[in-house]
Amino acid sequence: MSQQLRIAHLYPEQMNIYGDRGNIITLTQRCLWRGIEVDVVPISIGATVDWSTYDIVFFGGGQDSGQALIANDFVHHHGPALRETIDDGLVMLAICGGYQLLGHYFVTHTGEQLPGVGAFDIHTVGEDVRMIGNVVIEVDGIRAGPGDNRLHNTPSLRLVGFENHSGQTFLGKGVRPFGRVLVGHGNNGEDGTEGAIYRNAFGCYLHGSLLPKNPQFADHLITLALERRYDQANLAMLDDMFELHAQRTMINRLLR
Ligand code: GLN
Repeated sequence: MSQQLRIAHLYPEQMNIYGDRGNIITLTQRCLWRGIEVDVVPISIGATVDWSTYDIVFFGGGQDSGQALIANDFVHHHGPALRETIDDGLVMLAICGGYQLLGHYFVTHTGEQLPGVGAFDIHTVGEDVRMIGNVVIEVDGIRAGPGDNRLHNTPSLRLVGFENHSGQTFLGKGVRPFGRVLVGHGNNGEDGTEGAIYRNAFGCYLHGSLLPKNPQFADHLITLALERRYDQANLAMLDDMFELHAQRTMINRLLR
């Protein structure tokens, strides 16, 4: 029987900027190319969700106003059950505005406090100056598939993305950073960290979209999800020549 992954897409109407939906397209297509069936379910305000039936949850970025529209539903309706499933190893990717709402709270630059679900030990405070631009980060421990462009035994991998946020995020002891900033601002422009990881949940500021630009990380998420559901994952090799060439070109240009 063929393998199947179920993906939840949180609030696609309110939380989808800078092409974040491309992350869903990439996860879906990279699975389909390998004969893995995919079911993508959009989760809208008021939906009833059994998180244990999902393999991957994706939460895109959004304006402060978009976040304000969904924050109560996300935190009060879904918070406790989602947190429990993340504790249980649910694979999740949250970008920018979605990432911020996985933390304890987000105070916008106008002083409005939005609640967070507290799955990540982080908090975010909006500043008047926005952090905008291309980003290169270095990440450890990403087990990409055979399309990996690292030299063998190189522990870290460079990922590229685009950030645009007023929120400065600060990490507590309960999370580790997703990556180290080589180019750009990252979590807060101060401590050189970018994003956060807690168990199999990843949050970061990288739009772009992130996964089309960084197929190795897409495969890492698919691998984690397959291992969690089926106890094993053997991703077939894909021809990522163009993706990896584009990624390398951008990284080289930005690091020059
Ligand atoms: N509204 C948030 C901020 O500016 C998130 C923006 C985003 O998702 N790009 O910090």
